[in-house]
Amino acid sequence: METQIQVIDRLRESFRRGISKPEQFRREQLNSLISMIRDNEELFLKAVHKDLNKPKFEAIMSEMDILFNEAHYALSNLKTWMQPEYVGKNMATKLDDCFVRREPLGVVLIIGAWNYPVNLTLIPMVGAIAAGNCVIIKPSEVSAATESLIAELVPKYLSQECYAVIRGGPEETKALLKNRFDHIFYTGSQTVARSIMQAASVHLTPVTLELGGKCPTFIYGKVDFKAAAQRLVWAKFFNSGQSCVAPDYLLCSRATQDALVPAIIEALKKFYGEDPQTTPDLTRMVTLKHWNRVMEQLKSSKGKIVVGGESNQEEKYIAPTVVVDITADDSLMDQEIFGPVLPILTFESLQEGIDFVNTKEKPLALYVYSDESSVVRKVLEETSSGGFCSNDGIIHMAIPTLPFGGVGVSGSGSYHGRWSFETFSHRRACMMRGWALERLNSLRYPPYDENKLSW
Ligand code: NAD
Repeated sequence: METQIQVIDRLRESFRRGISKPEQFRREQLNSLISMIRDNEELFLKAVHKDLNKPKFEAIMSEMDILFNEAHYALSNLKTWMQPEYVGKNMATKLDDCFVRREPLGVVLIIGAWNYPVNLTLIPMVGAIAAGNCVIIKPSEVSAATESLIAELVPKYLSQECYAVIRGGPEETKALLKNRFDHIFYTGSQTVARSIMQAASVHLTPVTLELGGKCPTFIYGKVDFKAAAQRLVWAKFFNSGQSCVAPDYLLCSRATQDALVPAIIEALKKFYGEDPQTTPDLTRMVTLKHWNRVMEQLKSSKGKIVVGGESNQEEKYIAPTVVVDITADDSLMDQEIFGPVLPILTFESLQEGIDFVNTKEKPLALYVYSDESSVVRKVLEETSSGGFCSNDGIIHMAIPTLPFGGVGVSGSGSYHGRWSFETFSHRRACMMRGWALERLNSLRYPPYDENKLSW
């Protein structure tokens, strides 16, 4: 079996030979990736079910279709993206050709996370292939069934000269990171991201960090409680809250909370029935360690559970749970919840809520539900976050024309659609000059004469 270094060297040699660069090759590989997804859809669905008990519907929507669409979108736009971008010129350069050329970076490393284990590993790969790179992917070992399927299928469908899967957990990843890459694209926690950046700094490798954080959701002003509760419940409990863009906590007035909580309970019953443990439509916590962490946060909370709270360790199950009377120092406000627990904080005015959010780190996503456009505008203008969505949640990340990424500690860089292509490309500034206008050029040659500066 090849060592990590041998794999990297092999891909580097392929890149040097230019194998991954031609448009036709990129197209063939993207088409093969589409075939890989389509031919093996059932296997992928089984794998994510095994890893997370992911319902088929959620898996199709958030793993398969989104990836399929990204690959098709890249194929439809590749020609345009690859065109040189001609830029403005001045008097002195009017006879030159000045353009930006998107060039592949080289051998890039993509480190994926477990919560959407297909999507988060292969969608960045679509961008990296489209941009003409050689690619190493390192799926998360936590979602072991999907990791193993990706490792089996990628070499069968994609060029082994240009693409490889390296498996392993933290130790193998740390060893991998000692090598030089031309870009590192990391999805995961802020803690690990620090060591990724450190490792990258040794080789001055640029990084894209797709991280997480606590995504706030405001509900203020006039609002349709039934619709808001349904959209909120869907966004929060999709994948059992294990989404980087899941609404982490809710901010509203006490009167809104009083009207909203019954609507949330109603929506939960409608979606998951009287006993959510028996529905096939609810993902489980990925491992016992993750189950324990959320249970610990919940047990230490001083808030009052108004719905949910039940759990089953053997099944790694936590019922969709809503907790009220939460204060800023509550355990549920300590760190990203990343599980099916929704704390509600009450602030009488929207301004107090905004001020509170602005004392925190900038989140990956921020949501506001309101019938009043002035409320939506105010939240948009007075806060900052990676992405923003009004009157819904998490769905904005499925739009390939929008950049997906964080700001501040929720991440740096972005991807999806053209933004992925940009992330994995170098924008080479090109000036193609001929031999004309030598008299004009001579103005800048020594011997210098200051009178020439005012020309
Ligand atoms: P994880 O445990 O799957 O880790 C992510 C990757 O990092 C894996 O491939 C893993 O092998 C590797 N890794 C783990 N420890 C490492 C170490 N010490 N050194 C090097 N590599 C290491 O995922 P996670 O960290 O539990 O992910 C959860 C976090 O990721 C949450 O904060 C979530 O919000 C965030 N997230 C962000 C996005 C996004 O797109 N912005 C998507 C999903 C998850």
